[in-house]
Amino acid sequence: MTLPVFPSLRITADALVPRGAFAEAQAAFLKPDPELVAELTNLLRSKNAGVVAHFYMDPELQGVLSSCDWPHIHVSDSLAMADRAIAMAEQGVGTVAVLGVDFMSENVRAMLDASGYEHIPVYRVTADPIGCSLAESAEAAAYGAYLSEASKTPRSLHVVYINTSLVTKAKAQALVPTITCTSSNVVQTVLQAAAQVPDVHIWFGPDTYMGDNLANMFASLAEMSNEQIRQVHPAHDQSSVRSLLPRFHYFKQGTCIVHHMFGADVVNLVREHYADVFVTAHLEVPGEMFELGLRAQREGNGVVGSTSNILAFVLGKVDEAIARGETSNLRFILGTEAGMITPIVRQVQDKLRDYASEGGPEVSAEIIFPVARDAIAQAPESGLGVLPGVAGGEGCSTAGGCATCPYMKMNSLRALIALLRRLDVEPDSTLVPFEPRKYVQQIRGRTAADLGGEPILHMREFQRSGELPEALVQDVLTRWKAS
Ligand code: SF4
Repeated sequence: MTLPVFPSLRITADALVPRGAFAEAQAAFLKPDPELVAELTNLLRSKNAGVVAHFYMDPELQGVLSSCDWPHIHVSDSLAMADRAIAMAEQGVGTVAVLGVDFMSENVRAMLDASGYEHIPVYRVTADPIGCSLAESAEAAAYGAYLSEASKTPRSLHVVYINTSLVTKAKAQALVPTITCTSSNVVQTVLQAAAQVPDVHIWFGPDTYMGDNLANMFASLAEMSNEQIRQVHPAHDQSSVRSLLPRFHYFKQGTCIVHHMFGADVVNLVREHYADVFVTAHLEVPGEMFELGLRAQREGNGVVGSTSNILAFVLGKVDEAIARGETSNLRFILGTEAGMITPIVRQVQDKLRDYASEGGPEVSAEIIFPVARDAIAQAPESGLGVLPGVAGGEGCSTAGGCATCPYMKMNSLRALIALLRRLDVEPDSTLVPFEPRKYVQQIRGRTAADLGGEPILHMREFQRSGELPEALVQDVLTRWKAS
């Protein structure tokens, strides 16, 4: 096979210039059919419905959502989705539709309940379960064994990635004091726990790549000067970070099938063909891509972090180029799910339009979509000769694939419109399959939904105050002694 050149989408002030069929499709979705936009806007307004969606939604869906004239639509990372659903409830929406995978709608339901909005219905857009390979890995027996080990270790805190079901969180909380985290706050959560709880053992899971990347990140941090470490977390220095390293544990069998794609094969192609471009990498990527991103980050040419960190990095580089006032095309490797292209295009283009209206030299940003070699199908009719996606069709598998999440893509525009049409028309009971799972089973005398919401509330308190809640700290200090 000839060496593939990855598809890319160049963003200018007034145009999108795709390279490759995959990018052409993304560009087309960003100019949605005005009739569809009007239909969705009218439905949302007449049903008084809010929509919270994840960045990884299908670009077609995001393209339409981002063009609707309705204030209660929000696309973000998972951390902000529940917060925005609460804000929408406060502003008076009657229903919230969640576009994401099931743990996201469960999270939204749990946080609305905890905020006094039990009466606001939350719906997914399909009656089928919307899974997640990562969430499923935390439901395996191996994860139970991992937590059992944690429960037998003094001063254990389980830091569970938000990408898990409510019942996983509940079972974990029953065994070990647990706090949820996201890729945006995991580093600070671990460091804050180590600052607040002497000799704490951190048990991170279920994402193995992220756990491995975090371990490497803390090891690098331990080599920095005390001053540099205090800039990351003011309560730490070399000695405290070094002492944390052997107490940071992570689960070894949890994988996101999408980020798994960014392995050695893709990294070698990036090194060979894209040595001079900015590198963005999500914390969930395998070690090779993480190393590449981390090295770029140290040189000011990249970022490793959450989807929000990636978006902020791209926007920051565009700001710098505009400030320089020279003609330039900034190129970025997109080291995460391809759905991120929509918020990047919308926000970059807003900046470039403002800048162009002042008459400056042309600045553009080119987003490059890495594709695993074994996920490339021959397509002689396309300009590039290859397309992302295995020959049987686009998709992700453990063998590799384009960076699009097949679970997230179960949320379609058609399904959202169908759901909205049914609101107020169908009896509520016919919509029950669209509700997040209820988890009424009892665990230690509480419903799984209630107990599973507790680690999320701990995280929200940490987000609000910058400190772990005292009740959680006391639980970590005393539960092992009591058991
Ligand atoms: S990208 Fe898909 S498989 Fe990966 S963690 Fe997110 S929902 Fe799960």
